[in-house]
Amino acid sequence: MTTLDLFAPEMRRRIHLRPGRDKALKNRHPWVFDGAIAREEGNRDAAIADVLSSEGVRLTSGFYSAKSQIRCRGISFSDDLTPESLRAKIATAVRARAHLLGGDTDSVRLVHSEGDGVSGLVADFYAGTLVVEITSAGLEKLRDFVVDALRDAARELAPVFAVMLENDLGARRLEGLSLVDEWIEGGEVGGERETLIRENGLRFVVQPGAGQKTGFFLDQRGNRAMVRAIARGRRVLNVFSYTGGFGVSAAAGGAATVEEVDVSAPAIVLARRNHELNPSGATLELVTADAFEHLRKRRAEGRAYDLVVVDPPAFAKSKGDVDRAARGYKDINLQAFNLVAPGGTLVTFSCSGHVSSDLFQKIVFSAAADARRDASIVRRLGAGEDHPVSIYCPEGEYLKGLVLRVGEKN
Ligand code: SAH
Repeated sequence: MTTLDLFAPEMRRRIHLRPGRDKALKNRHPWVFDGAIAREEGNRDAAIADVLSSEGVRLTSGFYSAKSQIRCRGISFSDDLTPESLRAKIATAVRARAHLLGGDTDSVRLVHSEGDGVSGLVADFYAGTLVVEITSAGLEKLRDFVVDALRDAARELAPVFAVMLENDLGARRLEGLSLVDEWIEGGEVGGERETLIRENGLRFVVQPGAGQKTGFFLDQRGNRAMVRAIARGRRVLNVFSYTGGFGVSAAAGGAATVEEVDVSAPAIVLARRNHELNPSGATLELVTADAFEHLRKRRAEGRAYDLVVVDPPAFAKSKGDVDRAARGYKDINLQAFNLVAPGGTLVTFSCSGHVSSDLFQKIVFSAAADARRDASIVRRLGAGEDHPVSIYCPEGEYLKGLVLRVGEKN
């Protein structure tokens, strides 16, 4: 049996929805939740399911997951899901990034799950290394096919030297899939491997599969360029720095001083290497510390900064977390406001999908009010265009940021 056989009708699961539960799919929302399902039949081990309304009309075909609350991720709505149509979706997604790759930038997200119509698939390209994340059991069964399609499409843009599957993901644990990262090409199993990438002309070390995300936060590319453009002569504090993406950009933009703060020692080691790779005139301070404590300490010392970047991890991992997360965002932004010199700038982010832009703005408002600082929004930020959000699946919108001009205390 080959992967292609898994597309055959007799190999598929058939999911029958309960009466009245077809609205989301008719609106082309791709997630079929178990609660909407009346019964299932056919191959339990299927890669692909056809989803039918209670009247027996096919609404979508997509990736099947017997164990997941999202039992099926709809991929094809009008037409059937075939190897050709899946390959075409992947190729279309990859080609849409062609203009982002050039002399200054050699790393992009090639496929962004629902935003590219392939729910459950993420692929990042790091200067020739393809890093793939598969978060659906059904899609996992098609992985050889998908990796081939990705590799072929990526090769139209740039040479591909290595392919790795980033498997150590919470979503995969829930699906009962392997959590062991795997180099399919160009690396050893379990081996540490580094890639040197270029973003907006700056160089960064990326260790695919290690650290956060697939190794680097490609979604912040445009926002780093913005920070670089406003950094000249400023004292910069980069909170939750990870490997120094914003700090290196600020230094390249002529910042006077750059302080990187992250709780992860390996991240700070890479931040140092990234600064070394991009020599600048900035005075550097690299700090391994808890951000909440460190910002309080800096305040007690009477420090001030002209530009503060706050880019925390997702504090809200689920809906139930939102209140606790809101308190976290409020506190860290309050501490940040306290450290911005009058006339300075705060660039603050939330990447929690469960915290809406509205809620995030309210949280930042309440932090500003508690700090008793004038603050005006000068810009709203989001993820870069290689992280598209499907109009049918607004849940895909996660990163939001505000650039604030911070005034006197009054
Ligand atoms: N701005 C970064 C990405 C930040 S990711 C970039 O552009 O690349 C979030 C980072 O927050 C991670 O590196 C993680 O190690 C760090 N982190 C999580 N909790 C923290 C805490 N309490 N204090 C300091 N850093 C923390």
